Amino acid sequence: MSKNNRNQLSPATRLVTGGRSPDPHVVSPPVYRASTHLYTDCAELRAGTKSNADGNFFYGRRGSPTQWALAEALTELEPGAHGTVLYPSGVAAIAGALLAVVKPGDVLLVADNAYDPSRSMATGLLKRLGVEARFFDPLDLDAYREAFCNRTRAVWLENPGSLTMEVCDIPALAAEARKRDAVSLIDNTWATALGFPALERGCDISVQALTKHVGGHSDLMMGAASAGERWYRALRRTAQDLGHVVSPDDAALALRGLRTMKLRLERTTRTALALSEWLAARAEVAHVLCPMRPGDAGHELWQRDFTGGCGLFSFVLSGRYDAARCRLIDALELFGIGYSWGGFESLALPFDVEPVRAAMDWPRRGWQDGDRYAIRLSIGLEDPEDLIADLERAFAAMDTL
Ligand SMILES: *Cc1c(COP(=O)(O)O)cnc(C)c1O
Repeated sequence: MSKNNRNQLSPATRLVTGGRSPDPHVVSPPVYRASTHLYTDCAELRAGTKSNADGNFFYGRRGSPTQWALAEALTELEPGAHGTVLYPSGVAAIAGALLAVVKPGDVLLVADNAYDPSRSMATGLLKRLGVEARFFDPLDLDAYREAFCNRTRAVWLENPGSLTMEVCDIPALAAEARKRDAVSLIDNTWATALGFPALERGCDISVQALTKHVGGHSDLMMGAASAGERWYRALRRTAQDLGHVVSPDDAALALRGLRTMKLRLERTTRTALALSEWLAARAEVAHVLCPMRPGDAGHELWQRDFTGGCGLFSFVLSGRYDAARCRLIDALELFGIGYSWGGFESLALPFDVEPVRAAMDWPRRGWQDGDRYAIRLSIGLEDPEDLIADLERAFAAMDTL
C-alpha cells in the first residue's frame, strides 16, 4: 500500500499494519542483535558514511530494522509527524527532546502540572547548562502570556497533569508559543497519539514514555519523541550525539505491545470510568480526579481535545491521615503498590498534595483543609467488578485499627 493511502487508514488499522516485517512471508520484523555491520568492501563502507538517513545499516548505534520498524509505526500513529526517535527510557526522551531545543541563556517555561522528573531536570541539569526554568499555571492563560520574555525559547507541557490530572487548553497554549517563536514540547504519555494527536493540536514535539501504554506489560523501559521534519532532524542529531540507542529485543517487545494498545486503552478507560463513579459515591472520598468522567473540572476540555482516555486517574480522601491511607492501600489484593502505570495489571500509589506544585493552586481552590491524602490508580485488564470488590474490602480495612 502506498504511503499516501496508508495515511487514510484509521488509527486501529495503522496499529496493526505499521512497522511490519520487510519480508512478506513473516508478520513481525526479526530481532537484529547487532553492534557491527559488515560491509562487502571499502567502497560500500565509504558510501555508508555519506548518508545519515534511517534505513541503512551503518553501526549498531544507528539502529537496525527492528528499531526502525517501531519508530516507523509510532510515526504513522502521530498525525503530522515526519519521524520518531527512540530513547532508553521516558526520562531519556524528555532530556533528549529538551536538549535538542534549548541553549544557554534561554528561558524554558514549564507547566506546573508536569511529571516530577521533568521538573527536576529543568531545575537541575538544565539550570547547570545555563537554561532558566520558570513554572507557570497552565490553567491560567493570562499568567502564561505574561510569563513570556524575549529569551523564552520553549514551553514544556503535559496533559493531563501527572498525578493531579488537570486538563489544559493545549491548542491555546501551543498557539501562543508559536506566536512568540517558542517551541512547544508535550509529555503525551497519558493519552498517547491515539488519545491526543499532539502535533495536530499545535505542539512541535510529542514525547512519550513507551514504558507505560505502548509496552503495556510492565516489562520494558523506553521513550520516544515524534516531530515534524525540522524538529525530527534536531532530535535525531542530539540523540546521536548523546549516544542514545534502544535494545532491539525491547523494540520488538514494544512493537508487540503497540498492536494491542488501542484495545487495552479502550478497556481500561471503561473500567476506570466505572471505578471513578463508584469512588465518587463513597463518603470517604472527597474528590475524584478523572478527566474522562462527566462533571470533572477538566471534562469539557477533555471531550473537546481528546480522542480517547486511559486507566490512570487519582482520588483524594476526605479528612483522613496518612496511616489510614496506607491501611487502605496495603489491604488491596488486586492492586500492586508501585510507580509506573499502563501495564495490564492494576496499581495503586499514594501521593501527597503540597510538595509537588510551585505556581498552581494545589490543594485546588475550594477544597477542605483535610483534603490532601491522595491515591493514584492505574487500572489494568482485570474484571471491573473484582476491582470494585477489592476496593470495598480495602475501604473497610481503612477504618479498623
Ligand atoms: C513514567 C513517566 C515518564 C518517564 O518514563 P520512564 O520510562 O519511567 O523514564 C515520563 N512522563 C510521565 C508522565 C510518566 O508517567
